[in-house]
Amino acid sequence: TKMLFNDQIMDRENLIDIEDRAYQFGDGIYEVIGVYDGTPLMLDEHMERLERSADEVQLKLPASINELKVKLLELVAANKLNEGIIYMQVSRGTSPRWHEFPGLDVMPVTVAYTREEERMSDVEDQGANAVLTEDIRWLRCDIKTLNLLPNVLAKQKAVENNAVEAILHRGDTVTEASASNVFIVKDGELYTHPANNYILNGITRRKVLQICDDLNLKVNEKTYTVTELFKADEVFITATKSDIIPILKIDDKIIGSGKPGEITKKVVQEFRSLYQQHAEK
Ligand code: PLP
Repeated sequence: TKMLFNDQIMDRENLIDIEDRAYQFGDGIYEVIGVYDGTPLMLDEHMERLERSADEVQLKLPASINELKVKLLELVAANKLNEGIIYMQVSRGTSPRWHEFPGLDVMPVTVAYTREEERMSDVEDQGANAVLTEDIRWLRCDIKTLNLLPNVLAKQKAVENNAVEAILHRGDTVTEASASNVFIVKDGELYTHPANNYILNGITRRKVLQICDDLNLKVNEKTYTVTELFKADEVFITATKSDIIPILKIDDKIIGSGKPGEITKKVVQEFRSLYQQHAEK
């Protein structure tokens, strides 16, 4: 397959230096964009978030958002990707290993590649289990940086317990999950952690907020506790490509009826019709 390396679409090979700052420090930012029927979904939103992440870590993107978008579309076409994801990252560049930023002459290193991935329709329909674990990340979880070791450890715990996700809590407060946002439903209203420094403001999360607005469902962007999570009528998680997954059990506690809830199902249905419309365009 092809990859994007800086501004070149080329055969995929390893061109990364051992002193690339992404490799040594996780000093960089990234995006994962879902591709449905050959078209990236919500590409503008992803690119705007990339720009924001870059600003927040004082990394100057090597090209404009529009130029990057054109390159990503070229990559999708070159790989004839129909269903899957684009992964893109920008590191602060390659330079002798010192913690502080390298000189202004050091250019960021941009890479992107694609991966075929089926839609997780079965899990979306049937739901899955999660585990609960402590959120041990830093205080800028709003930036999509390459530093993912706490997320990796949390997800590994989920997988070892036959769960799809690890839901994270900071003290009593539920924040998000290792690679997704979390929504709960109680008495017909939804609750999700506000978009502040404790969570990544997911593109899927934002879309779900819009969908709920369209469906006249009330969403409270308010924190909720671990106890409220376990007592919720419904719980679901949202992320790029896995979309919306109903959570039926957390650790050994069954959520609500133990089946995907009615509100969750409505949101899933609406989300699907959205990418169907998108594919027809
Ligand atoms: N929260 C975290 C920590 C993530 O890594 C992700 C993405 O993988 C999300 C939330 C969901 O974000 P998005 O819907 O933009 O994929």
